[in-house]
Amino acid sequence: MSHFEKVVQAKPDSIFGVQETYKRALATYKALPKDHPDAAPEKLPISLVIGAYRTAEGQPWVLPVVAEVEREMVGKENHEYLEMAGHVGFRNAAQKLMFGRNFPEVATIQTLSGTGALSIGFNFFARHTNIRHVLLSDPTWGNHFTVAQTAGLTTGTYPYYNSQHNSVKFEEMLQCLRTCDPNTLVVLHPSAHNPTGMDLTMEQWAQLAELFTARRTLVPFFDSAYQGYASGDLDADVAAVRLFTDHGLQVVVSQSFSKNMGLYGERVGALHVKCDSVDEKDRVLSQLAALARATYSNPPSYGARIASTILSDPARFEQWKGCLDTMTSRLKGMRHALLAALERRHVPGSWNHITVQQGMFSYTGLTAPQVAYMAEHHKIFLLPSGRMSIAGLTPANVERVAAAMEDAVT
Ligand code: PLP
Repeated sequence: MSHFEKVVQAKPDSIFGVQETYKRALATYKALPKDHPDAAPEKLPISLVIGAYRTAEGQPWVLPVVAEVEREMVGKENHEYLEMAGHVGFRNAAQKLMFGRNFPEVATIQTLSGTGALSIGFNFFARHTNIRHVLLSDPTWGNHFTVAQTAGLTTGTYPYYNSQHNSVKFEEMLQCLRTCDPNTLVVLHPSAHNPTGMDLTMEQWAQLAELFTARRTLVPFFDSAYQGYASGDLDADVAAVRLFTDHGLQVVVSQSFSKNMGLYGERVGALHVKCDSVDEKDRVLSQLAALARATYSNPPSYGARIASTILSDPARFEQWKGCLDTMTSRLKGMRHALLAALERRHVPGSWNHITVQQGMFSYTGLTAPQVAYMAEHHKIFLLPSGRMSIAGLTPANVERVAAAMEDAVT
């Protein structure tokens, strides 16, 4: 008899599942004899799946500022536990980066990156407030549903993206948020919306801030996974968060350093909860720390120490901004290169949205069958929703991607 007899296989993750298919295709490709027709360089499988930065050569990038700080750290630090709420210097610096200043009434806890921040945040609301429901943008990052539901919250969506016109359904979004049930958490993407790459304008954020001011039972929960990645400007990318705090709203923010510092595997992030008073902040922080204690006790220190140094040392901070510029410029360049290649080929349809969208992803408009066709016939992988990670494009593969898109849509 096994205790695990009745355990059913979990559904593959909607993103990592596709990446696994790509990895299998790559392994098959690599195992082919060199003279096999399918071993030609133009048959090399291409992944446009994962939201992780790649260089123009298609390689992961350790930011030079991170590498230098790591070298300086060697032998100088010990491996003691951090406190439950995390590295104090990191937490203060992360809060300042998000809000532009430190607030005595913001509870900030270091988390296992953005996902960990969402999880601690959702669990906190489920256990310590009367909020039980989360509204997510339609569409959104798939894991939002899973993390919220695992915390015991129910999920729904608000209208966001109009695929026909490649625009934001702002009026419908407003209407939904005006009429939705009270006591709802509303997850908002401050910039580089995943998966669509379509962000709200500052005028639209101002209207939303008015709406949340009028409906105080709704809680705005900003998921900031791409600060600095949309415009290249760290302040501009979180302007919505600051606008909401300026309105005196009780914002919640999950903050990730995976993408903007390239610290994906180190799990560096923070959760910020803006309270009405210092006393309230102290109580909230104690409960956030208690949730951390019950789950992983205290967060990892290595990445937090790197981030803390970069955020607190003005010279390092400037160097980091240069790295962000390198990444965002390359991504913008690849958007333009893809659009130019599609236009040169006169691929049917309108593709301008590829350069209007910002950040790591493009919501290409390719349909699920077209995406499947590209995988089968061209070994080019993206999500069935048509989401393409722009970071996977390189000068060497962009023509091939455009040719495959042409083949798929004609
Ligand atoms: N939120 C959004 C919208 C994301 O796109 C991601 C990562 O892709 C995350 C959160 C979480 O990333 P991480 O846990 O690596 O910070």
